[in-house]
Amino acid sequence: MNRKPIFAANWKMNKGAVETEDFVKSFLSKIQGQNFAAEIVIAPPFIALPKLADLLHTATAVQNAHAIQIGAQNCSEYDSGAYTGEISVLMLREFFVHYVILGHSERRSIFGETDASINAKLKKAREANLKPIFCIGETLAEREGGKLESVLRTQVTEGLKDISEKDLAETVIAYEPVWAIGTGVTATSQQAQDAHAFVRSLIAELYGADAAGKIRIQYGGSVKPGNAAELMACPDIDGALIGGAALEPQSFLDIIRNGTVQAQ
Ligand code: PEP
Repeated sequence: MNRKPIFAANWKMNKGAVETEDFVKSFLSKIQGQNFAAEIVIAPPFIALPKLADLLHTATAVQNAHAIQIGAQNCSEYDSGAYTGEISVLMLREFFVHYVILGHSERRSIFGETDASINAKLKKAREANLKPIFCIGETLAEREGGKLESVLRTQVTEGLKDISEKDLAETVIAYEPVWAIGTGVTATSQQAQDAHAFVRSLIAELYGADAAGKIRIQYGGSVKPGNAAELMACPDIDGALIGGAALEPQSFLDIIRNGTVQAQ
């Protein structure tokens, strides 16, 4: 099955508008003339979305701007109204956001997001035609306790509850073992491949073989230029969700370059 890899930068709570502009200008100058057989997404903090939209989607957009898609790191499960601090899907659409990261382990563990709230956000994102990057993954204790498969099964079945096959086709799954996020510890390519193959088999159970063959499953957790090629060579790994190593243009570019076959 031919799945286009997707490399997404999750900047977390790093970079305001000024640093976003510096990064994007530098990154775009580096990719000048290159054509990657991959999708590239940048998900800055909300506050930098207007700047990113301006850089990539206005009449004066810098060269190569079309190469990057805009992502958000979260969205509200509500439409509008008395939800202090929340950002709605329609607000994101105003700034040309195409992707939204949902269910990141930091949102689950620090901000108390549950499978049910993530499911509600996923549905809301699809209502606005945003493409969810739906994050799942186990903690070290869960893996060591032999619970890897049951944790992934629950996250996938509850997170995707009542999501249609059509909406699933617009969704990307990010497998991110919690113990590998921001720790410098990467899952071995075999550990990652095994988990990805299991997630794909879950999708086959829920939606059938065709949907399972088509869905893109990214790996996330301390991806760096030095390990990208080996991870991306695994048959069920379709790109990466990258935190720390995507904060620097050259490092993000090297991950994409090492992880994809360059189309001439
Ligand atoms: C992430 O935040 O999704 C992530 C994978 O972070 P890092 O690459 O820093 O481990």
